[in-house]
Amino acid sequence: MEAAGQGRQAGGTPRAALAELLAGNRRFVSGQPVHGHDVTAAAAASGDQQPYAVVLGCIDSRVPLEAIFDQTFGAICVIRTGGHVLDRAVRGSIEYVVSQLGVPLVLVLGHERCGAVGAAVDALRSGERPGGSLAHLVDEIAPAITEAGLDDPAAHPLAIRRHVRRTVHALRADDLLAGPVAAGRVAVVGGLYDLSTGEVALLDPT
Ligand SMILES: [Zn+2]
Repeated sequence: MEAAGQGRQAGGTPRAALAELLAGNRRFVSGQPVHGHDVTAAAAASGDQQPYAVVLGCIDSRVPLEAIFDQTFGAICVIRTGGHVLDRAVRGSIEYVVSQLGVPLVLVLGHERCGAVGAAVDALRSGERPGGSLAHLVDEIAPAITEAGLDDPAAHPLAIRRHVRRTVHALRADDLLAGPVAAGRVAVVGGLYDLSTGEVALLDPT
């Protein structure tokens, strides 16, 4: 049995953090989560946290990040926005986790059939830009769709992957993250969640 939580510590290596996250996903996929049935106040009561990773994912209700990585309280920091779009609050939150909590890994997790990316594809194809702050999501996702090719029938799935990679690259170049990334103390990686199987696959495994 895999020791959930083994090696979890601030200041650990990016590689160890990624291995632990993916091990948690394998437990989830196999139907044998360690923490899946421990979502209780008692389990939360330690009051301490030693997160070893921060996961930026989508708001999609089918992709609850702590569950799909089989993580307990205090283990990972989670940020979710529509289509994992960045803004200053998201960047500042990740910068805080990395610089103040010593977390060595940032995982950007996209997912198949992402509605936010789909909405952006629809907006670009129709030429009807939504109002309000929803326009921000569309604007941030649009470059990935343009790269994928708006007229490509597979624009939606292709843009999902490109948007993950663009988000990864943007974070690697972030003011406060670029230095630790260049020094190898922090890794920013991208992944894709399969809604059918529950599996997380790295987009560019090293
Ligand atoms: Zn989504």
